Amino acid sequence: MNFFGSKFGKSKGKKDGIQKPLWLNHPFVEATLVNGSLRKVVALPRYVDVNEWLAVNSFDFFNYTNLFYGAIAEFCTPKDCPVMCAGQNCEYTWTDGQKRTIKIPAPQYVDYVMTWIQNVLNDENVFPTKSGYEFPREFQNAVRTIFKQLFRIFAHIYHHHYDKILHVSAEGHLNTLFAHFISFAREFDLIDKKEIAPMADFIAELDQAQRI
Ligand SMILES: [Zn+2]
Repeated sequence: MNFFGSKFGKSKGKKDGIQKPLWLNHPFVEATLVNGSLRKVVALPRYVDVNEWLAVNSFDFFNYTNLFYGAIAEFCTPKDCPVMCAGQNCEYTWTDGQKRTIKIPAPQYVDYVMTWIQNVLNDENVFPTKSGYEFPREFQNAVRTIFKQLFRIFAHIYHHHYDKILHVSAEGHLNTLFAHFISFAREFDLIDKKEIAPMADFIAELDQAQRI
């Protein structure tokens, strides 16, 4: 079924003459599993070290994002997604081993990102799990890079594979996870403002509904 076709899409949601994507329209924009704000959920618990909290949440968001991408991965092919992007105005490039900036298909980009994150999370020198080991100076930079890259995967899923999310009725799960992710990123200033642009309208909706 084409959810972007006549059934839901055409009549409402025009913005500056451009069709709003379905996930910005009602009822999808409010679909959620949790009512109320996520700000309390993301705040640093008392007596918890901030780096520990960043580390635990990095693991969790990585695993959940991986699950969601896995749910749509068979539809994210080099043919359908020849570049990693989030909408028509936002393309992401990859920096290869020779420091060259290259465009690669979305599934390859996501594979590189997820492999890189997995390796960083498993690297005891960056993410120490044993007690008594200090977090290194580059730890927070690594966390920021993880959040930037996970955000891009969210943005790609929303912009290009949302129909598949609807097909398995996971829109409430995805919105809840994304709101949690954004709320956390904001609390600890983990994603640059310019990076947020492809999802800015949706984040504004979450703000207005006092979800984040
Ligand atoms: Zn794709």
